[in-house]
Amino acid sequence: MNTIKGIAASKGVAIGNLKLCVKLDDKISKQSITDVEKELERVDAAKEEAVKELNKIYLKALKRVGEENSMIFQIHIMMLQDDDFFDAIQDCIKDEKVNAEYAVWKAAQQFSEMFAQMDDEYMKARSADVIDISKRVLGCLNPALESGLDSLKSEAIVAASDLMPSETVQMDKSMVLAFVTEQGSKSSHSAILARTMGIPAVVGLRDSFAALQNGVVTIVDGSEGTIVIDPDEATLKAYEQKREQFLQHQQKLQQLKGTKAVTKGGVEIEINANIGHPSDIEMVLDNDADGVGLFRSEFLYMESDDFPTEEQQFEAYKTVLEKMDGKRVIIRTLDLGADKQVPYLNIPKEENPAMGYRAIRISLDRKELFVTQLRALIRASAFGKLAIMFPMITSVEQVQEIKGMVEQVKHELEEEKIAFAPDFELGIMIETPASAVLSDLLAKEVDFFSIGTNDLTQYTLAVDRMNPSISEMYDPRHPAVLRMIQMSVENAKKAGIWIGICGESAADTALTKFYLEIGVDELSVTPSAVLELRKTVQQLD
Ligand code: PEP
Ligand code: MG
Repeated sequence: MNTIKGIAASKGVAIGNLKLCVKLDDKISKQSITDVEKELERVDAAKEEAVKELNKIYLKALKRVGEENSMIFQIHIMMLQDDDFFDAIQDCIKDEKVNAEYAVWKAAQQFSEMFAQMDDEYMKARSADVIDISKRVLGCLNPALESGLDSLKSEAIVAASDLMPSETVQMDKSMVLAFVTEQGSKSSHSAILARTMGIPAVVGLRDSFAALQNGVVTIVDGSEGTIVIDPDEATLKAYEQKREQFLQHQQKLQQLKGTKAVTKGGVEIEINANIGHPSDIEMVLDNDADGVGLFRSEFLYMESDDFPTEEQQFEAYKTVLEKMDGKRVIIRTLDLGADKQVPYLNIPKEENPAMGYRAIRISLDRKELFVTQLRALIRASAFGKLAIMFPMITSVEQVQEIKGMVEQVKHELEEEKIAFAPDFELGIMIETPASAVLSDLLAKEVDFFSIGTNDLTQYTLAVDRMNPSISEMYDPRHPAVLRMIQMSVENAKKAGIWIGICGESAADTALTKFYLEIGVDELSVTPSAVLELRKTVQQLD
């Protein structure tokens, strides 16, 4: 038995076998072989197996997300049946007399590079697909090479150096008992995703990560940040009890469904939920949130191989609005860049991505993308109570430019006789010090503010939210951050607009009293934190 400590990132206790996801480059070695025929047969069998797996996934996806969104798996099947790719693998085995795993990985890299260099955008996007299908073939060749994320075959605790949001959105969530990562911090996006999914997570293990063992029974305590490897009987029993208590507590909170977040003194606050995908709405409804306070729309871009079309986005937004049945849904325009990258955006490597080409900076630079998203959003407004929110605002001029574009899109839709709601709200995130300091002027431009404490903390304190080695300095309760919040709330009140908080510290119950005292109107938290927060408000004087 061995106990290690990391950063507690998502509450709850999980007990299960650990699945260690190591980078393929570190796992695939070049080995000389003598039996060429045997390696060729192994490749053929793996390819056949991979096609079978993809067919199953395609049929499952077809039911879940429809024809258009499932097409990618058909494309993967076609690519797997491409002769050029397999000729390259076979030639490598025959000429270099090497193992099948090495030959597949080498061909994958060659073909992926070749696609990446093509001019045609569609072909360029195939670069990531070649890697994807090769990983699948490798997993079929050798179970130790399964990527572990999109191919989990049984329930497991997933451990990886870091989990990029693009990887976490792909995995089969019903199989993941918990996340454990070497990198990351409490407010990195993989931690946020774990909380949205309601599964325990411990991140930022750093050097202790090396102690984890593949396939070994492991305990993850996401409330304390503790991991126990190969526990003895007594420890196992103690954590089984703790897991039971946690589940019972969750059960008790269910009684608060249907009640309001009102203090004993009669002050009411709206408690909404944050989501990243239309399918998260089930969690929002399950936890009885008052609405959706933040829909991070970039996840639609991240699970797709290319820019989602207006139609695909419209369907996603409409679904969420309809399911929320008249309750307010705040959809934030794309916040790609920094740790949320998509290959097809082709952002060159940046020294300081968090302060680089991201969010509204991309939208205002690549207007065709922004207009597509605005059209999809405004069209969806006809199906519920929509509010649109813009991320990473740093100036009044940005907001004026955005409003001009919104007016233009509305005008075009009118001309095209396409329906939309006349009264949807427009708001901005206060997540840069510039926007907090300018909040008196910005408040005159919009209907609401929502404070993004994750980035506001990072930029105010100059502490990278992703960097585990300075995670103790990343403090959303720091007086400088609280002053930024208070200043924004005061300016919102003066201008007569409402203000909420949608960063992770909206769920920090040690701050709830402060938020209520200064006059915050809304808090938006991960769905699984809604009822706990409601309880905290109800217990306040
Ligand atoms: C924030 O910065 O607080 C926020 C809500 O946005 P994100 O976490 O998506 O950057
Ligand atoms: Mg942010």
